[in-house]
Amino acid sequence: MLQTVVSAALPVQERLAIRKHRLSPAAGGTDGLPRLCVLTGTHGDELEGQYVCYALQRRIQAEPEHLTGIVDLYPAINPLGIDTVSRGIPMFDLDMNRIFPGASDGPVPEYLAGELMKDLRGAACAVDLHASNIFLREALQVRLNENNADRLLPLARLLNTDFIWIHPNATVLESTLAYSLNAAGIPALVVEMGIGLRLTPSDGDQLTNGLLALMAHLGIWSGAVPPYKAPVESTDGEVILISAEKPGMFLPAVPHGVQLQRGQCIGEIVDVLRGEPVQQIMAPAAGWLFTLREYPACYAGSVVARMMLGGGVF
Ligand SMILES: [Zn+2]
Repeated sequence: MLQTVVSAALPVQERLAIRKHRLSPAAGGTDGLPRLCVLTGTHGDELEGQYVCYALQRRIQAEPEHLTGIVDLYPAINPLGIDTVSRGIPMFDLDMNRIFPGASDGPVPEYLAGELMKDLRGAACAVDLHASNIFLREALQVRLNENNADRLLPLARLLNTDFIWIHPNATVLESTLAYSLNAAGIPALVVEMGIGLRLTPSDGDQLTNGLLALMAHLGIWSGAVPPYKAPVESTDGEVILISAEKPGMFLPAVPHGVQLQRGQCIGEIVDVLRGEPVQQIMAPAAGWLFTLREYPACYAGSVVARMMLGGGVF
């Protein structure tokens, strides 16, 4: 069933609407059934979640008899952003993931956020899908706040990601959708995957298997659950950030996701005006290259890569 969660008037006779598709068992009512909410499109330049919404629905639609609860899919939390290839909410110049929990009597963006929060009340779990940005390719991962780790880790481990990154509480933003949901008692998991403006179906299919495992755990799916792998789990202390020291174009020497030896070349930054390399970027230690820059232009300080020390997932 397609539903409009919230809408607001636009200046010239159009309406901005956040819509969802509710999948539920064909027979019987939905009262008391557990509900999983899959949300994406908060950042309009991140599209990986679009594929996941599609793939999960195809899997459920192929075996509707095994759906024993509710799945609500919200593919476009920020529809104007997706329409205009802009990360935030156009016109308002706002990052939509900085206005939660919103306010029902607030300006339009906060009103949308507030009504969305109301719609999510009572969910057994919410999964908020992100796709990095246009600059960096990310491994399929769940990001957690250490304060919620005890409660969320058992759910996160079902999602079949390569990686769970547990952040210290000090770095957590309180105005995100996931933070607001967790504060309201709804377990909410943030997934980061792939890269902005692109789809990576292999990651999307991997996560879809994990979502089926999560649904089975929540009592929403009685069908077969594909095998899911145990992710690598890491805190900030095991992650190395590698930045550009000079401006230029980044030419990677290795593909994303590889295991690196200490001293191995990750890539170089080149000065195209003078035609000379300006920085060789070497792995400072052995580790797994889970973030790699794809957008070539760099300034001094631009993130080029992130590595997890030690062994990776492959
Ligand atoms: Zn995002």
